[in-house]
Amino acid sequence: MTETYDVIIIGAGPAGMAAAIYTGRARLKTLILEKGMPGGQILLTDFVENYPGFPEGVVPFELMDNFRKHAEKFGAKIETDEVKEIRKEGELWHVVGNKGEYSGRAVIIATGSSYRKLGLPEEVELTGRGISYCGTCDGAFFKDREVAVVGGGDHALTEALFLTKFCTSVKVIHRRDEFRGEKIIQERIFANEKIEVLWDSVIEEIKGKDKLESISIRNVKDETIRELKIDGLFISVGMDPNTSFVKGLVEMDEMEQIKVSQKMTTSQPGIFAAGDVTNACPEQMATAVGTGVAAALAVDEYLSRLATPSAD
Ligand SMILES: Cc1cc2nc3c(=O)[nH]c(=O)nc-3n(C[C@H](O)[C@H](O)[C@H](O)COP(=O)(O)OP(=O)(O)OC[C@H]3O[C@@H](n4cnc5c(N)ncnc54)[C@H](O)[C@@H]3O)c2cc1C
Repeated sequence: MTETYDVIIIGAGPAGMAAAIYTGRARLKTLILEKGMPGGQILLTDFVENYPGFPEGVVPFELMDNFRKHAEKFGAKIETDEVKEIRKEGELWHVVGNKGEYSGRAVIIATGSSYRKLGLPEEVELTGRGISYCGTCDGAFFKDREVAVVGGGDHALTEALFLTKFCTSVKVIHRRDEFRGEKIIQERIFANEKIEVLWDSVIEEIKGKDKLESISIRNVKDETIRELKIDGLFISVGMDPNTSFVKGLVEMDEMEQIKVSQKMTTSQPGIFAAGDVTNACPEQMATAVGTGVAAALAVDEYLSRLATPSAD
């Protein structure tokens, strides 16, 4: 017979593990299902400077290992499995993974988001052959090479700065004429001699047979096209929420992020959501943690109400 948990948390990123610390301390029997390594997408970077309480910055691997230990200390169990479906069976939620099926009285979806693709024909074929979505992971392979980063948000700019440690030159291709995001990062970009920003520019074509050779860039203001020979292209144009497995189950917005209330409830009673997967989280670790905590408190309140039938 399947073991029944009070709460099943899907995703062991900052949101999921913060939630588990609180559900564990509320003495709720907690299972976390994680498809990869516990820690979430913050493990894709090597250093975090803006997480409160760490004025000298913190190494994400160490921070997230402490999140995991903290969640396990209060009783959370972590299983490696990728969730494919959630369905209601009687009073319980049935969570279906690749390896097994799990039963819970409440569910917190904290599956975060994944890199968005440009959608160009050669993109998939040349990924790993010059195209990458993670400078921190792959930057060292491009020592003394010329690379470009596409994107204009904090992620893209941080990637560009990181790549200057290895590469001879880094072009930043941005479709607008200014950056959004943190000013301190922009200042570092403009001060770095290895970085050149190509404003108002979009990539039209990616070229290469067995490896990336060049890209065609169109200036969106004067419509000129220029060819750029590069060894590496780092794509950093945003993230898409990991919500395909709950399509039709919970309400989502036009970006396919899960719609949540202030208490992180979704359109399905008993299903809660937290972190970057929701429409209520500005894609930062601290906010993911905050929404994870809010979801855990709401689950505790929800389960207490279920256990105490109303007088009428
Ligand atoms: C390169 C990079 C640098 C960043 N730098 C910073 C920074 O300096 N400061 C900052 O505050 N934020 C930063 N962020 C953003 C921060 O990492 C995210 O906002 C935060 O990790 C979101 O947490 P989360 O728990 O909502 O989701 P995630 O961290 O995405 O965690 C979700 C987890 O769910 C798992 N999962 C997904 N689908 C399933 C499934 N179907 N079944 C089981 N498990 C599943 C994933 O494997 C993942 O471990 C950065 C992000 C990136 C990519």
